[in-house]
Amino acid sequence: MIELRTPAEIEQMRPVGRFVAETLATLRDDTKVGTNLLAIDRRAHEMIRKAGAESCYIDYHPSFGASPFGKVICTSVNDAVLHGLPHDYALRDGDLVTLDFAVSLNGWVADSAVSFVVGTPRDEDLALIDTTERALDAAIAAAQPGGKTGDISAAIAAVALGEGLKINTDFGGHGVGREMHGDPHIANNGRAGRGYPLKPGLVVAIEPWFLQTTDELITDPDGWTLRSADGSRGAHSEHTIAITADGPIVLTDRSFLGVK
Ligand code: MG
Repeated sequence: MIELRTPAEIEQMRPVGRFVAETLATLRDDTKVGTNLLAIDRRAHEMIRKAGAESCYIDYHPSFGASPFGKVICTSVNDAVLHGLPHDYALRDGDLVTLDFAVSLNGWVADSAVSFVVGTPRDEDLALIDTTERALDAAIAAAQPGGKTGDISAAIAAVALGEGLKINTDFGGHGVGREMHGDPHIANNGRAGRGYPLKPGLVVAIEPWFLQTTDELITDPDGWTLRSADGSRGAHSEHTIAITADGPIVLTDRSFLGVK
């Protein structure tokens, strides 16, 4: 079921969006060569407790998960791109890291992800991150009232295909509200003009993610972490946005902090 939010409810969602933005900006800043993935999770947990928020991940146990997730942030490194379960690993020079974070605060959820490199970056990794960020920007620009969810999907696909990337449509954007995942699903490829109408009050997470040379994923023995089938690296950019009569509002925008 697709739920639409009133302008007052969208205002109520701003604090959780800001908290997710601040947390990701802080964790990205603190993550360096040598940082352990478990330390990132601990820091995220502290920030959640301090804010009085609730993790959407810790008890998350969908049909595809081996057991409840048990951590509060996804840390996906290099060939891991989605659902990376934090484990005892100290980041190495040149690692490509994705942090994906969703919490509930005052009963409302926000969900956002960011990719970056620690230490000395490889050009192709920066290019892949840039492509996911441009796809997200294009998708947000396409998220206009009167449009369709296919407009968002097509905007993402145009950027990825323009870079010669393949697109996996198994995991994509989704409605966000009282829960982390709701309708509609927003695939990272689709046709403009098709799909669910983008009505004012629709709140969705948009999340382009791409792999360098494949669209196939394999599940790690941990039961959660999704890696590229060919070992190539992945990147992921996600924001939670609200569609209003005046256009999209990016609830998890980090620009108020002076960072992208
Ligand atoms: Mg999401």
